[in-house]
Amino acid sequence: MKIVVAKTAGFCMGVRRAVDMVLDASNLSSEPIYTYGPLIHNPQVLKLFEEKNIFKMDRIPEKGSGIVLIRAHGVPPEDKEALKNAGFTVMDATCPRVVRVQVIIHKYAKKGYSTIIIGDQKHPEVVGLLGYAKGKGHTVTSLDQLYELPRFDDAVVVSQTTQNTDFYGEIKAWCKTNAPHYQIFDTICGSTEKRQAEIRELAEENDAVIVVGGKQSGNTKRLAQIASQTGKITAHIEDVSQIDYGKLSSARSIAITAGASTPNWVINDAYDQIERNLQQQHPARAFLFSIRNFLLKTNIMTAAGAGFLTYACSVLQGISQNLHHAVIAMLYVLSMQILNNLFTIKPDKYNHPQRAFFYKKYRSWLMLFAVLSGVSGLYLSFIAIGRISFSILLIMSLLGLSYNLKIIPFISKKEQLIRLKDIPGSKTILITMAWGTVTCLLPAVASQSKWLSVAVVFLFATGLVFARTAFFDILAIQGDRITRKETLPILLGEKRSFGIIQYVLMADMGILLLSSFTDILVKKAVFLVIIPLMMLLLIRFFRKDSFVPGTHREFFIEALFLFTGLIAIVI
Ligand code: SF4
Repeated sequence: MKIVVAKTAGFCMGVRRAVDMVLDASNLSSEPIYTYGPLIHNPQVLKLFEEKNIFKMDRIPEKGSGIVLIRAHGVPPEDKEALKNAGFTVMDATCPRVVRVQVIIHKYAKKGYSTIIIGDQKHPEVVGLLGYAKGKGHTVTSLDQLYELPRFDDAVVVSQTTQNTDFYGEIKAWCKTNAPHYQIFDTICGSTEKRQAEIRELAEENDAVIVVGGKQSGNTKRLAQIASQTGKITAHIEDVSQIDYGKLSSARSIAITAGASTPNWVINDAYDQIERNLQQQHPARAFLFSIRNFLLKTNIMTAAGAGFLTYACSVLQGISQNLHHAVIAMLYVLSMQILNNLFTIKPDKYNHPQRAFFYKKYRSWLMLFAVLSGVSGLYLSFIAIGRISFSILLIMSLLGLSYNLKIIPFISKKEQLIRLKDIPGSKTILITMAWGTVTCLLPAVASQSKWLSVAVVFLFATGLVFARTAFFDILAIQGDRITRKETLPILLGEKRSFGIIQYVLMADMGILLLSSFTDILVKKAVFLVIIPLMMLLLIRFFRKDSFVPGTHREFFIEALFLFTGLIAIVI
């Protein structure tokens, strides 16, 4: 069974912009924030918004206070005025592509033109557009309705930005033949066109299509309609619990797509659950996948990667390959990662629902596992390495434990204490530094290595860890913004973070290559250049090709750390 995810699935530019605006407002302001209508068609996220003081407003009250965000669909100009007159501060997140249509309608309406909007008159975007037509707006959802309209002397024809491209093509063809004086504008958004073209293609190539997104979402309903018109099995679901697997039993390949307001973790979750369910038909494969998922969820694979990286760092410096260091690094990373996941069960409910469920269900066992790992690591460092290593590890463990606690005095409007995790970019940087310390510095301190070798190996190790962590943070950026995790991609943006990751990995390769011509590192260090190179290629590939779901990407990137250790064993 093959499952593919559409590259265009998930948030479009306009929805992403509106979500970013409302979250920025909620982080900066203590006033209540309202969205005029639901911002995203996802009940769980709307609930989380309420916890963040962001509420949905359905009607404009006579009086009120706070900030009201106009969502990407836009509103009629009189609604905007009514909000201001009621006493609200209006934040306009109307998508620039919708604004373009509003401007066209307004311009021609001022000249006395009638407006024909191809779209559902109840859809919020169309309601907003009609507001600019100066009372001369008409909506059309079928060719018959178009035939029934009077022939206007002057009219402008536009479509809802998420309209079906084929249908609008028929409308345009009819107008050109029967009312050539009408001014016709191509107003279907490029993102909608691409999304629809892709689902047409995917529906042709696959046996079934699953469309994930709100039942009220117009663009999601249209995707389901396009897919079902190809005659393929089509299911429109809001979440995976609604899938009828019996219907999919004859399908050998499934395409998944999603509407413009569906968060990407909902798509990833759908992929994971569909894959797991369908794999029940192949017990051997299902078993292997469940082991892989267990190793990822429990962080055992990540911890093993830290151990292998530690071993490689020791080999590079030419110091005695004391396996204790690798085990200590493994235990430290295991303990910190599990504790961090336990502390973030609540926000992870939205961003990583499967992981949150797992941590909630086995909370006590995982807590015990984390504490035992942490204590064992400290004990081993004390008896096998020495007091200095033990003290450094103890300080790092305490820092890791305090990451989610409000301990830093911070004078803000509310004079509150903040957590380490509230510092912008802290998550990515602190994980990188912690790994660099346990994988490189602790063994170096114990072996009293040459400082130049230590510096070079530290750069190599932190470079790899930084790229891994920042890349995972990019994958989780939508949910992290909503649940307010302070990662580097949130601070710098996705594009800049990708740029930095690439430069860091190239620098990593350069460092190893240059060092291999000197006696700073062991001569065969050059073989490890393959690791940052593979990570760079994988990340570039994953970035270009959204077909690869989150768990697979995570697995491949984590596996590279195991390879680092294996190469070090061979050289
Ligand atoms: S679908 Fe297009 S026009 Fe509509 S909000 Fe998204 S980007 Fe803007």
